[in-house]
Amino acid sequence: MTTAPVDVESARRDYAALVDRGLSLDITRGKPSPRQLDLADGLLALPGDVRKAEDGTDVRNYGGLKGLPELRRIFAGPLQVPAEQLLAAGNSSLELMHDSIVQAFLSKLPGAERRWADEPSVKFLCPVPGYDRHFALAERFGIELIQVPLTETGPDMDVVERLVAEDAAVKGIWCVPKYSNPTGVTYSDDTVRRLATMTTAAPDFRIFWDNAYAVHHLTEDEARLADLLALATEAGNADRVFVFGSTSKVTYAGGGVGFFGASEANLAWWTGLIGKRTIGPDKVNQLRHALFLRDEDGVREHMRKHAELIGPKFAAVDEILTKELGESGLASWTKPTGGYFISLTVPSGTAKEVVRLAKEAGIALTPAGATHPYGDDPDDAVIRIAPTYPELAEVEEAIRGLAVCVRLAAATKK
Ligand code: PLP
Repeated sequence: MTTAPVDVESARRDYAALVDRGLSLDITRGKPSPRQLDLADGLLALPGDVRKAEDGTDVRNYGGLKGLPELRRIFAGPLQVPAEQLLAAGNSSLELMHDSIVQAFLSKLPGAERRWADEPSVKFLCPVPGYDRHFALAERFGIELIQVPLTETGPDMDVVERLVAEDAAVKGIWCVPKYSNPTGVTYSDDTVRRLATMTTAAPDFRIFWDNAYAVHHLTEDEARLADLLALATEAGNADRVFVFGSTSKVTYAGGGVGFFGASEANLAWWTGLIGKRTIGPDKVNQLRHALFLRDEDGVREHMRKHAELIGPKFAAVDEILTKELGESGLASWTKPTGGYFISLTVPSGTAKEVVRLAKEAGIALTPAGATHPYGDDPDDAVIRIAPTYPELAEVEEAIRGLAVCVRLAAATKK
């Protein structure tokens, strides 16, 4: 980036004027807005007087650990897992990721020599910038987190291939392969193929394929992702893939349905263990989701309504950043065509200061560093912008204020 010098006095004046406005804005978390949640309110009247799933199961009763087939069928395409290998579970995919890790520590995974609890150390690769909750979850179990650069085409595969080949302690990698959190990148076909076929020192290596934004397009030009599970299966590596997804940002965040997809061997491992934890998922919620969304086209139609609501917010962020910072060369930012986030890169060593200045001015941003393991962005340069929740006018106001903070932090950088 070539950077034009910033006039300190005018940057200070603009910032003082911003603080004087006494704003109270929050662009921290990627939550759906109330108007997005309203789109799914049809769920509240469902399942109406329907009590039975298509296979005759009374959804009000216990059982059905794998979830309702009609719902699994709807999400088999978007999540790229055959319906019979896709489980519909509770209300969160993050808890399924959590449980997979806990179970891998406590019980030997298919292909493993021993439980992860009996390994001298367990390491995960973390493409950065990435999703803070992935990192926090792995850190909580003492997993060592290793940063790998996330490029325009996915994780830097030269680095990934080297690390997984040379160190058997590397047991996993976090991936948000489509419209990634926070850059919006979709992994290229070549990246997916290399992940599916690479040689790993660990026989029980797992790709945590968190396809959280599989259907979350912002434009008509839908990103296409290669089918990891199919490619890995073809390469004789079916067991290395754990697929996750949910309807948290399709219907209700907190009242949706989470999915887990994997090979037959992994599913047998999973259901054998999860069967001790629950007698079955909330099939009433699953049935109303199946009735509400109907089929894959129903999901696509529904997601277009989301795009109509949040597309203008993403466009506003881009327009304002271009106007306020475009010529200064002080920042670069991603222009995602799907997902929930924009990643803003500011001059090295200023991201924390930008976030601090914004906070003082009443604009809450995700803490700088949250996009990296241990909350530590070595360049102190990445800021995650989450524009979906606030009203459009608030997003605009917050981004104008953010630009003021970027200029002041750059101008006063030691
Ligand atoms: N995965 C990613 C990449 C996310 O960004 C989020 C939420 O922001 C989640 C998972 C949480 O998913 P769930 O609500 O299904 O637990």
